[in-house]
Amino acid sequence: LRLSNANLAQFSQAETRPDYDRTQLKHGIVHVGVGGFHRAHLAVYVDRLLSKFAANDWSICGVGLTAFDASMRDALDPQDHLYTVIERSARGSSAHIIGSISEYIFAPGNEEAVIAKMADKDTHIVSLTITESGYYYNENTHELDVSNPNIQFDLTGDGPPRTTYGYLTAALARRYKAGLRPFTVMSCDNMQKNGSISRNMLLAFARLKEPNMAAWLSENGAFPNSMVDRITPRTVDEDKQGLQQQFGIEDAWPVVTEPFMQWVLEDNFSDGRPQFEDVGVQVVPTVRDVEQFELMKLRLLNGGHVAMGYLASLAGFTYVHEVIADPLFSQYLNDLWYEEVKPLLPSIPGVDVDEYIQTLHSRFSNPTLKDEVARICLGGSGKMPQFILPSIAEQIESRGPIGRLTLCVAAWFRYLSGVDENGKTYKIDDPMAKELQALAREGGASPNVLLGVQTLFGDDLRYDGRFVREITMAMRTLDRRGARKTLEKYVELPE
Ligand code: NAD
Repeated sequence: LRLSNANLAQFSQAETRPDYDRTQLKHGIVHVGVGGFHRAHLAVYVDRLLSKFAANDWSICGVGLTAFDASMRDALDPQDHLYTVIERSARGSSAHIIGSISEYIFAPGNEEAVIAKMADKDTHIVSLTITESGYYYNENTHELDVSNPNIQFDLTGDGPPRTTYGYLTAALARRYKAGLRPFTVMSCDNMQKNGSISRNMLLAFARLKEPNMAAWLSENGAFPNSMVDRITPRTVDEDKQGLQQQFGIEDAWPVVTEPFMQWVLEDNFSDGRPQFEDVGVQVVPTVRDVEQFELMKLRLLNGGHVAMGYLASLAGFTYVHEVIADPLFSQYLNDLWYEEVKPLLPSIPGVDVDEYIQTLHSRFSNPTLKDEVARICLGGSGKMPQFILPSIAEQIESRGPIGRLTLCVAAWFRYLSGVDENGKTYKIDDPMAKELQALAREGGASPNVLLGVQTLFGDDLRYDGRFVREITMAMRTLDRRGARKTLEKYVELPE
């Protein structure tokens, strides 16, 4: 049976389904980037608020800015924006029908509708999962990448916006003129200081485009920082078929995820917020409280994914659980976590880092999730400077070990050539793919050409003698011996 409002009562096999009146909802939240993660995370928390606490002012209007989002519109519109979250663990699967997204606007061609929705007085929060690259953030200068053609287009043109900042600025300018409060801009992307980056980049953009509004926003706006966590693989056709067979639910685009979920959120809102703490969100008073959780999660979980991903891809693995089941890879990851990352982390009251690492190990091992190595290799140019390079820089500073961290950068360089060890070619999915792939091919087994990419490596790393020596050696070994044999050199397996 196809998901829809009219059919909702018949899906008794789902563990939970909306029991609230979806016709009585206001859109308190506009969310940009309705992908897998948003639908497994914020939308689930809001669904619980609607169902347990009748928080009717806080349903979500989804927005898709990129051309690819047409497929999300085509999936959600015919099923009244209902969809299923399939939770998978070794104990089995459960299905939850989520009703918190009650409208969806595909922005290309409907730009005015998006701006009007964000500017509406009922909208209090605009939340984002637009991937790391959607922020146009230069890691080295910590400034907005104003040279980017999309940003240039939005800054100088009179046409409809293309970038998130173009939309936010247009909508905030209307709110400013109408005497409303600015909505809170709530980033749920995996970036250290995601709120501060959103604030600084949006203000930099707005100062160039709408200076009066920018001054008002700087004074009155709010950009909470947060740490978000729930592993959400890409949905595949098998998931849809399984959902229909096991639960009788016909859903054009369900989401598969793990039972674990976490959200540590800074309590910093400019126009009100729902009682997120009632549904399990850790709402904390200051940015400092978020930062510590954030650092631990980004360096260990996301850093762990990056560390495994490129080596595993070169070695021909398909799924993350298969990688972690291989003693060589598992030992490499443990050594990297315990020897090179953990010593850099602050101690957080009430959190046992060893236990956190063990939990990660078992989350990565979940065979039912079928998280793809290809997914964790996406967008390396956004991930490397967030999750790996800062640990290397800090270890260099304290003269600590960098061998395993550096090996993963070398593996990424090797991966960027677009040809694996069996001669199979694959597509690099990265906003900088074209440039990086050309440089990787030019550099061959030497890291020097890629290390020259200023926006990624700045000057600190590429002129650090120890780092350059280590990465040169790692790349040479990878080139000559392949990923597995290289790992054997780096890892001493316990007897
Ligand atoms: P996805 O591919 O399912 O969705 C990505 C969404 O981002 C799409 O809606 C797309 O339109 C939008 N987007 C991409 N580039 C954009 C741009 N330049 N401007 C505006 N929108 C843009 O991916 P996902 O799994 O939902 O992950 C999205 C983000 O969520 C990640 O990059 C990460 O920061 C965060 N996250 C993901 C996970 C996970 O396990 N998938 C876990 C924690 C956090």
